[in-house]
Amino acid sequence: MVKLVLVLGDQLTPDVAALKAADPGRDVVVMAEVREEGTYVPHHAKKIALILAAMRHFAEELREAGWTVAYSKLDDPDNSQSIVGELLRRAEEHGAEAVIATAPGEHRLREKLTHAPIPVEQRADDRFLATEAEFADWAEGRKSLRMEYFYREMRRKTGLLMDGDQPEGGKWNYDHDNRKPAKGDLFMPEPRHHQVDEITAEVLELVEREYPDTFGELRPFWYAVRRRDAKAAATKFMKEALPQFGDYQDAMLEGEKFLYHSVLSMYLNIGLLDPLELCQQAEAAYRSGDAPLNAVEGYIRQILGWREFIRGIYFLDGPGYTERNGLGASRTLPGFFWDAETDMACIRAAVSQTIEEAYAHHIQRLMVTGNFALLAGIAPKEVHEWYLAVYADAFEWVEAPNVIGMVLHADGGMVGSKPYAASGAYIDRMSDHCGGCRYRVKDKVGEDACPFNLLYWDFLLRHRERFGGNPRMAQMYRTWDRMKDEGKDARQREAARILEKLDAGERI
Ligand code: FAD
Repeated sequence: MVKLVLVLGDQLTPDVAALKAADPGRDVVVMAEVREEGTYVPHHAKKIALILAAMRHFAEELREAGWTVAYSKLDDPDNSQSIVGELLRRAEEHGAEAVIATAPGEHRLREKLTHAPIPVEQRADDRFLATEAEFADWAEGRKSLRMEYFYREMRRKTGLLMDGDQPEGGKWNYDHDNRKPAKGDLFMPEPRHHQVDEITAEVLELVEREYPDTFGELRPFWYAVRRRDAKAAATKFMKEALPQFGDYQDAMLEGEKFLYHSVLSMYLNIGLLDPLELCQQAEAAYRSGDAPLNAVEGYIRQILGWREFIRGIYFLDGPGYTERNGLGASRTLPGFFWDAETDMACIRAAVSQTIEEAYAHHIQRLMVTGNFALLAGIAPKEVHEWYLAVYADAFEWVEAPNVIGMVLHADGGMVGSKPYAASGAYIDRMSDHCGGCRYRVKDKVGEDACPFNLLYWDFLLRHRERFGGNPRMAQMYRTWDRMKDEGKDARQREAARILEKLDAGERI
């Protein structure tokens, strides 16, 4: 009996679990562009175009490989505009009574498939290096879950950067060497830009027509939408940027959007690239002497460690994760997250490039926009929906634990043992933004003082009960306690002023 094989927009891998379990001579692949998935948050125009163009190219790849593909375009008049609706329509068309799917990377969609009025077998997504069950086993009985220990297990499991049973070079982690600020005169590689072909051009017009008011700039559109182009982008990164990746991983420079980052996460997350292959490619660059150990270990740790750990947390915690609000934050997301209209140069840079490219690198997401949201006490749900909307690589399994856990510390410390709260001094050390900012990072109080400086103390005081006993934060509280009363009063007064301005929607 014919079955339907569901392939979602982030499952564009020829041997994805559902395809592996199906028969190309008998079964029908269902792929559907549906409004329901494109509008539950205002996704960036480039993100929508990436997914739709990559889906259309993947459908072609499958047809060439002998599959029958029932593909619903967004503007097909018969399109029911929901995944389950399209499954039911195709089931009737092809006389199918069952569906094979690869488990979606989001609880919401897993639930929908579980309750669909047609049986859907959801097979585990095996494109990751740790299964959900393996992560749960590792987590079982541990008092706290720390990425570093999980990462070591994964190094042992995959044999990546191992020298027998010891880590290559004698250390598991070379982060200590990876905190250099960058200077503007360094050679900056650019991520690979790709030509727009006929299929992609049609998608771009569709996005302009169907999502006229969505967030972000659609053009120029330069992303890879085919596997071979994504691989070419990975090869360019390994050759041109990987050797410096470690050194400047935490740096930020005005006008430099990508520095030495790989800009591959969007391809990885939709299935055009394979995480193990990328790690092996990076390891090969180290073994052949083309990239140093600190860079290669740092890069592999992001994928083998952080990416897998983050996914493990999301599925371990369950569907309630995005509702977590451990610090009781409730402020509304300021408008400048959408339009970059702020005098804070670092936020302006991060949001502007987000509008242009649907991309910001990790430190911008964590220590600039994320840090601001943490210090100002913005409601986690609003912050989560913003990150999910604006980045091309944002899918809930990876976005939510980074935002709710790593950045906002709203998950009770599952992802991190302490919040990454920082004053303007961190941004000044790691970037050149402060020089051209209307605020003065050296000023601790006063009209011109950097808002990060003021909100930093306010945040620590608001949560003293929770963090006062954390040994990794004790030094900060000691510094506060040593301050003179006038200094303390001024900081608190001025933080309240900034928060009032935020609440009133005034420019800061
Ligand atoms: P590189 O800096 O070149 O890193 C290499 C790879 O490591 C990335 O391609 C990515 O696959 C992986 N990686 C690195 N850090 C993480 C991490 N913390 N979690 C998961 N994977 C990681 N990543 C996403 O893929 N999707 C998201 O929606 C997302 N949201 C984030 C939100 C916040 C608030 C923060 C702090 C981080 C978020 N990240 C997210 C992680 C990270 O910022 C991005 O993976 C990275 O910036 C992507 O750019 P890149 O490919 O140039 O990465």
